[in-house]
Amino acid sequence: MMRETLVFGPIHSRRLGSSLGINLLPERGKLCNFDCIYCECGWNADGLGDRRLPTSEELREALRAKLSACREAGTPIDSITFSGDGEPTLNPEFPEMIDITLALRDTFFPAAKVSILSNATRIGREAVFEALRKVDNPILKIDAATTELVRRINRPVGGGYDLDEVVANLRRFEGNFILQTMFLRCPDFDSTAPENVEGWLRIVRELRPREVMVYTVDRETPLKGIAKVSPEEMAEIVRPLVEEGFKIQIRG
Ligand code: SF4
Repeated sequence: MMRETLVFGPIHSRRLGSSLGINLLPERGKLCNFDCIYCECGWNADGLGDRRLPTSEELREALRAKLSACREAGTPIDSITFSGDGEPTLNPEFPEMIDITLALRDTFFPAAKVSILSNATRIGREAVFEALRKVDNPILKIDAATTELVRRINRPVGGGYDLDEVVANLRRFEGNFILQTMFLRCPDFDSTAPENVEGWLRIVRELRPREVMVYTVDRETPLKGIAKVSPEEMAEIVRPLVEEGFKIQIRG
Protein backbone atom coordinates (compact mmCIF):
# COMPACT_ATOMS: atom_id res chain seq x y z
CA MET A 1 0.00 0.00 0.00
CA MET A 2 1.41 3.38 -1.01
CA ARG A 3 1.42 6.28 1.41
CA GLU A 4 3.28 9.10 -0.27
CA THR A 5 4.35 12.48 1.01
CA LEU A 6 3.28 15.62 -0.81
CA VAL A 7 6.39 15.68 -3.02
CA PHE A 8 8.34 12.45 -3.34
CA GLY A 9 11.33 11.14 -5.26
CA PRO A 10 13.09 11.62 -7.54
CA ILE A 11 13.06 8.01 -8.60
CA HIS A 12 14.66 6.79 -11.78
CA SER A 13 12.75 4.84 -14.38
CA ARG A 14 13.62 3.89 -17.92
CA ARG A 15 10.35 5.35 -19.18
CA LEU A 16 10.31 8.68 -17.36
CA GLY A 17 13.97 9.22 -16.48
CA SER A 18 14.47 11.06 -13.20
CA SER A 19 10.96 11.61 -11.94
CA LEU A 20 9.39 13.52 -9.07
CA GLY A 21 5.97 12.51 -7.78
CA ILE A 22 3.28 14.76 -6.33
CA ASN A 23 0.58 13.42 -4.03
CA LEU A 24 -2.31 15.88 -3.55
CA LEU A 25 -4.12 13.43 -1.27
CA PRO A 26 -3.73 12.79 2.47
CA GLU A 27 -0.21 11.63 3.41
CA ARG A 28 -1.36 8.70 5.52
CA GLY A 29 -4.63 7.88 3.80
CA LYS A 30 -6.31 7.32 0.46
CA LEU A 31 -8.99 9.48 -1.11
CA CYS A 32 -10.64 8.51 -4.35
CA ASN A 33 -14.10 8.60 -5.91
CA PHE A 34 -13.32 5.20 -7.44
CA ASP A 35 -12.44 2.12 -5.39
CA CYS A 36 -10.83 -0.02 -8.10
CA ILE A 37 -10.50 -3.71 -7.45
CA TYR A 38 -6.84 -3.46 -8.51
CA CYS A 39 -5.86 -0.20 -6.74
CA GLU A 40 -2.26 -0.23 -5.53
CA CYS A 41 -3.31 2.01 -2.62
CA GLY A 42 -5.75 -0.64 -1.33
CA TRP A 43 -9.45 -0.24 -0.60
CA ASN A 44 -10.80 3.21 0.26
CA ALA A 45 -12.07 1.84 3.58
CA ASP A 46 -8.53 0.98 4.65
CA GLY A 47 -7.25 4.48 3.89
CA LEU A 48 -9.50 6.52 6.17
CA GLY A 49 -6.82 7.21 8.80
CA ASP A 50 -5.86 10.62 7.43
CA ARG A 51 -8.34 12.96 5.69
CA ARG A 52 -6.27 16.13 5.60
CA LEU A 53 -5.57 17.42 2.12
CA PRO A 54 -2.47 19.48 1.41
CA THR A 55 -2.98 23.11 0.43
CA SER A 56 -1.59 24.91 -2.60
CA GLU A 57 0.76 26.93 -0.39
CA GLU A 58 2.17 23.72 1.09
CA LEU A 59 2.71 22.39 -2.40
CA ARG A 60 4.46 25.58 -3.48
CA GLU A 61 6.87 25.37 -0.54
CA ALA A 62 7.54 21.63 -0.77
CA LEU A 63 8.01 21.62 -4.53
CA ARG A 64 10.18 24.71 -4.55
CA ALA A 65 12.41 23.22 -1.84
CA LYS A 66 12.72 19.89 -3.67
CA LEU A 67 13.40 21.40 -7.10
CA SER A 68 15.90 23.84 -5.70
CA ALA A 69 17.72 21.05 -3.77
CA CYS A 70 17.83 18.89 -6.91
CA ARG A 71 19.24 21.73 -8.98
CA GLU A 72 21.91 22.49 -6.39
CA ALA A 73 22.88 18.82 -6.15
CA GLY A 74 23.06 18.54 -9.95
CA THR A 75 20.25 15.96 -9.95
CA PRO A 76 18.30 16.22 -13.21
CA ILE A 77 14.49 16.18 -13.20
CA ASP A 78 12.95 14.88 -16.41
CA SER A 79 9.37 14.57 -15.28
CA ILE A 80 6.96 15.59 -12.55
CA THR A 81 3.98 13.28 -12.15
CA PHE A 82 0.79 13.73 -10.14
CA SER A 83 0.11 10.20 -8.99
CA GLY A 84 -0.74 10.02 -5.34
CA ASP A 85 -2.86 7.90 -3.07
CA GLY A 86 -6.15 8.61 -4.82
CA GLU A 87 -7.65 10.96 -7.39
CA PRO A 88 -5.65 14.23 -7.64
CA THR A 89 -8.51 16.30 -9.08
CA LEU A 90 -10.45 15.80 -5.82
CA ASN A 91 -8.17 18.30 -4.14
CA PRO A 92 -10.26 21.51 -4.26
CA GLU A 93 -7.12 23.56 -5.03
CA PHE A 94 -6.15 21.30 -7.93
CA PRO A 95 -6.34 23.97 -10.70
CA GLU A 96 -4.19 26.39 -8.71
CA MET A 97 -1.75 23.58 -7.89
CA ILE A 98 -1.26 22.92 -11.58
CA ASP A 99 -0.40 26.58 -12.17
CA ILE A 100 2.07 26.51 -9.27
CA THR A 101 3.71 23.33 -10.55
CA LEU A 102 4.03 24.59 -14.10
CA ALA A 103 5.54 27.89 -12.94
CA LEU A 104 8.10 26.13 -10.71
CA ARG A 105 8.89 23.67 -13.48
CA ASP A 106 9.56 26.60 -15.83
CA THR A 107 11.86 28.20 -13.25
CA PHE A 108 13.93 25.18 -12.23
CA PHE A 109 13.70 22.48 -14.93
CA PRO A 110 11.94 23.94 -17.99
CA ALA A 111 12.45 20.78 -20.04
CA ALA A 112 10.69 18.52 -17.50
CA LYS A 113 7.34 17.10 -18.57
CA VAL A 114 4.36 17.35 -16.24
CA SER A 115 2.00 14.35 -16.24
CA ILE A 116 -1.21 13.64 -14.35
CA LEU A 117 -2.86 10.30 -13.76
CA SER A 118 -6.61 10.83 -13.33
CA ASN A 119 -9.70 8.68 -13.48
CA ALA A 120 -11.40 11.31 -15.70
CA THR A 121 -14.52 11.52 -13.54
CA ARG A 122 -14.16 15.24 -12.84
CA ILE A 123 -13.26 16.56 -16.27
CA GLY A 124 -16.82 17.87 -16.67
CA ARG A 125 -15.84 20.67 -14.30
CA GLU A 126 -14.49 23.53 -16.35
CA ALA A 127 -11.63 24.40 -13.97
CA VAL A 128 -10.44 20.77 -13.85
CA PHE A 129 -10.69 20.46 -17.64
CA GLU A 130 -8.73 23.68 -18.18
CA ALA A 131 -6.05 22.60 -15.71
CA LEU A 132 -5.63 19.21 -17.38
CA ARG A 133 -5.34 20.93 -20.76
CA LYS A 134 -2.29 22.86 -19.53
CA VAL A 135 -0.09 19.90 -18.61
CA ASP A 136 2.11 17.98 -21.02
CA ASN A 137 0.55 14.59 -20.39
CA PRO A 138 -3.00 14.25 -19.09
CA ILE A 139 -3.29 10.46 -18.64
CA LEU A 140 -6.98 9.62 -18.32
CA LYS A 141 -8.56 6.31 -17.44
CA ILE A 142 -11.31 4.28 -19.09
CA ASP A 143 -11.15 0.62 -18.08
CA ALA A 144 -14.25 -0.79 -19.76
CA ALA A 145 -16.72 -0.15 -22.56
CA THR A 146 -19.92 -0.13 -20.52
CA THR A 147 -21.00 1.69 -17.39
CA GLU A 148 -21.91 -1.66 -15.89
CA LEU A 149 -18.41 -3.10 -16.29
CA VAL A 150 -16.80 0.14 -15.09
CA ARG A 151 -18.95 -0.20 -11.97
CA ARG A 152 -17.55 -3.68 -11.36
CA ILE A 153 -13.91 -2.81 -12.02
CA ASN A 154 -13.66 0.74 -10.71
CA ARG A 155 -16.50 0.69 -8.15
CA PRO A 156 -17.37 4.44 -8.38
CA VAL A 157 -18.21 5.83 -4.96
CA GLY A 158 -21.95 6.56 -4.81
CA GLY A 159 -22.39 4.68 -8.08
CA GLY A 160 -22.98 7.87 -10.08
CA TYR A 161 -20.69 7.06 -13.00
CA ASP A 162 -21.95 7.41 -16.54
CA LEU A 163 -19.51 6.25 -19.21
CA ASP A 164 -21.32 8.12 -22.01
CA GLU A 165 -20.91 11.35 -20.10
CA VAL A 166 -17.19 10.71 -19.49
CA VAL A 167 -16.67 9.93 -23.18
CA ALA A 168 -18.53 13.11 -24.15
CA ASN A 169 -16.31 15.12 -21.80
CA LEU A 170 -13.16 13.45 -23.15
CA ARG A 171 -14.19 14.43 -26.67
CA ARG A 172 -13.48 18.02 -25.66
CA PHE A 173 -9.76 17.18 -25.43
CA GLU A 174 -9.81 16.73 -29.24
CA GLY A 175 -7.42 13.80 -28.91
CA ASN A 176 -4.84 15.71 -26.92
CA PHE A 177 -4.60 13.27 -24.03
CA ILE A 178 -3.29 9.81 -23.22
CA LEU A 179 -5.90 7.13 -22.63
CA GLN A 180 -5.00 4.54 -20.01
CA THR A 181 -6.82 1.21 -19.83
CA MET A 182 -6.29 -1.70 -17.45
CA PHE A 183 -7.14 -5.18 -18.76
CA LEU A 184 -7.77 -7.93 -16.24
CA ARG A 185 -9.63 -11.15 -15.56
CA CYS A 186 -11.71 -11.96 -12.52
CA PRO A 187 -13.48 -15.19 -11.68
CA ASP A 188 -16.83 -13.68 -12.72
CA PHE A 189 -15.86 -11.33 -15.54
CA ASP A 190 -13.13 -10.70 -18.08
CA SER A 191 -12.41 -7.29 -19.57
CA THR A 192 -10.71 -8.95 -22.56
CA ALA A 193 -14.03 -10.56 -23.59
CA PRO A 194 -14.81 -9.76 -27.26
CA GLU A 195 -17.89 -7.61 -26.56
CA ASN A 196 -15.93 -5.39 -24.16
CA VAL A 197 -12.92 -5.14 -26.48
CA GLU A 198 -15.18 -4.21 -29.43
CA GLY A 199 -16.83 -1.45 -27.41
CA TRP A 200 -13.48 -0.20 -26.16
CA LEU A 201 -12.08 -0.05 -29.70
CA ARG A 202 -15.12 2.04 -30.69
CA ILE A 203 -14.43 4.48 -27.85
CA VAL A 204 -10.75 4.78 -28.80
CA ARG A 205 -11.64 5.44 -32.44
CA GLU A 206 -14.15 8.05 -31.40
CA LEU A 207 -11.80 9.88 -29.02
CA ARG A 208 -8.59 9.48 -31.06
CA PRO A 209 -6.22 9.98 -28.08
CA ARG A 210 -2.67 10.86 -29.12
CA GLU A 211 -1.48 7.81 -27.23
CA VAL A 212 -3.07 4.74 -25.64
CA MET A 213 -1.48 2.91 -22.70
CA VAL A 214 -2.75 -0.56 -21.96
CA TYR A 215 -1.55 -2.42 -18.93
CA THR A 216 -2.51 -5.15 -16.50
CA VAL A 217 -2.28 -5.90 -12.81
CA ASP A 218 1.23 -5.88 -11.48
CA ARG A 219 1.42 -5.89 -7.69
CA GLU A 220 -0.90 -7.32 -5.07
CA THR A 221 -4.51 -6.19 -5.54
CA PRO A 222 -7.18 -5.48 -2.92
CA LEU A 223 -9.54 -7.98 -4.57
CA LYS A 224 -8.00 -11.43 -4.62
CA GLY A 225 -8.25 -13.74 -7.61
CA ILE A 226 -7.53 -11.16 -10.35
CA ALA A 227 -5.47 -12.64 -13.19
CA LYS A 228 -3.02 -10.79 -15.39
CA VAL A 229 -3.47 -10.47 -19.13
CA SER A 230 -0.30 -11.34 -21.04
CA PRO A 231 1.52 -8.75 -23.18
CA GLU A 232 0.80 -10.99 -26.20
CA GLU A 233 -2.94 -10.89 -25.51
CA MET A 234 -2.85 -7.13 -25.07
CA ALA A 235 -0.91 -6.83 -28.35
CA GLU A 236 -3.70 -8.79 -30.02
CA ILE A 237 -6.37 -6.52 -28.48
CA VAL A 238 -4.69 -3.36 -29.79
CA ARG A 239 -3.60 -4.79 -33.16
CA PRO A 240 -6.41 -3.11 -35.16
CA LEU A 241 -5.51 0.23 -33.58
CA VAL A 242 -1.83 -0.20 -34.38
CA GLU A 243 -2.77 -0.95 -37.98
CA GLU A 244 -4.88 2.21 -38.04
CA GLY A 245 -1.86 4.28 -36.91
CA PHE A 246 -2.62 4.80 -33.23
CA LYS A 247 0.37 5.16 -30.92
CA ILE A 248 0.09 2.37 -28.37
CA GLN A 249 2.12 1.46 -25.31
CA ILE A 250 1.73 -1.97 -23.73
CA ARG A 251 2.89 -2.56 -20.18
CA GLY A 252 2.61 -6.14 -19.04
S1 SF4 B 1 -8.76 5.55 -9.70
FE1 SF4 B 1 -6.65 5.13 -9.19
S2 SF4 B 1 -6.43 5.78 -7.04
FE2 SF4 B 1 -8.63 5.62 -7.47
S3 SF4 B 1 -9.19 3.58 -6.78
FE3 SF4 B 1 -8.71 3.46 -8.96
S4 SF4 B 1 -6.55 2.90 -9.10
FE4 SF4 B 1 -6.96 3.63 -7.00
